[in-house]
Amino acid sequence: MEQRRDLCSFLFPQVSSLGETKRVETKMFVRMKQGSSKAEADAVRARAVAAGLNVYEDNGGGATTLAILGPAGQGATLADELTKLPGVAEVAKATRQYRLSSREFRSVPTVVKVRDTEVGGGSLTLMAGPCSIESEEQLFEVAAGVKAAGATLLRGGAFKPRTSPYAFQGLGLDGLKLLARAREKTGLPIITEVMEPAQVDMVAEFADVLQIGTRNMQNFSLLNAVGRTRMPVMLKRGLSGTIDEWLLAAEYVLAAGNSQVILCERGIRTFETAARNTLDLNAMPILRRLTHLPVIVDPSHATGKRWMVAPMSYAGVAAGADGIMVEVHPRPEEAWSDGEQSLTLPMFAKLAGELRTIHAVTAPLNAAAE
Ligand code: PEP
Ligand code: MN
Repeated sequence: MEQRRDLCSFLFPQVSSLGETKRVETKMFVRMKQGSSKAEADAVRARAVAAGLNVYEDNGGGATTLAILGPAGQGATLADELTKLPGVAEVAKATRQYRLSSREFRSVPTVVKVRDTEVGGGSLTLMAGPCSIESEEQLFEVAAGVKAAGATLLRGGAFKPRTSPYAFQGLGLDGLKLLARAREKTGLPIITEVMEPAQVDMVAEFADVLQIGTRNMQNFSLLNAVGRTRMPVMLKRGLSGTIDEWLLAAEYVLAAGNSQVILCERGIRTFETAARNTLDLNAMPILRRLTHLPVIVDPSHATGKRWMVAPMSYAGVAAGADGIMVEVHPRPEEAWSDGEQSLTLPMFAKLAGELRTIHAVTAPLNAAAE
């Protein structure tokens, strides 16, 4: 009886004291039995779709889980009905606001494949490159240098979200074209920022990973637009975004049908002004527990100071990050943006070697601590 009441509460509209009917959501995870068939999962899906609900499937960890989400659908007995279908192990209610990004939906880590490299799942990702693409010479010199040092992705801004409207705003399309040529030369996949929905198709034509900048973490139309691409997306944490808000922002991309999401902790704004921002390393173990998505640390924007980048990179990897994103410039003192926090090529080469050493020791420790 207790169980039945619980199942019914998935879908029962709640009536407020004013007698209005509140909008009630369906938010359930249907876990299929190990060894159940695809046809059995399809039968669950078909029933949920017939009720007007959205279905998301995950096959991590050996068994299928279906997330069934959406407005109330057709009646209170759906959960009950699904429980009885062949192959269903259990129907569980989502306990958190974010659902597809939660470990409740997918218990095993997500590995985001970017061309020949993988982000997450035990590998160490090293994203490096200039803050802004300035010229062919500058970009190609950095690209060759970071590749030689073992970078796994090339970063570079073509569309720059600058605090001041008078600061350099990026080379735009010309920058994207240079990035594509740098990829051809080095074989490194590229990550670059997209700032608005109308730019998504253009940037997606050139990029391997679409970066959502900190200022756009809650630009929901942009999140929907990159969600529709099915391309890898790296979502930076908002300047004042809580972890819950960040995961809900990731949820927009996932709910639009794109499961290829990487999170990036790039420092948050606190009362402390000694550094540009404050790198929130608490977020590493917290995110490990809450989400299956890979997490990258950006110590460049987190600190704003070149001499802080190495120690905070060590700390990020030791705390369980799947990799780092750092700004590198052949002559940081001449950089058109963020020179103060950009590493030189020799500094990056040294850091890359050190991080590989640290990661080899700390990755197994973090995995065991989960
Ligand atoms: C960047 O990585 O180029 C950038 C602008 O970073 P953020 O969005 O974290 O400020
Ligand atoms: Mn920058």
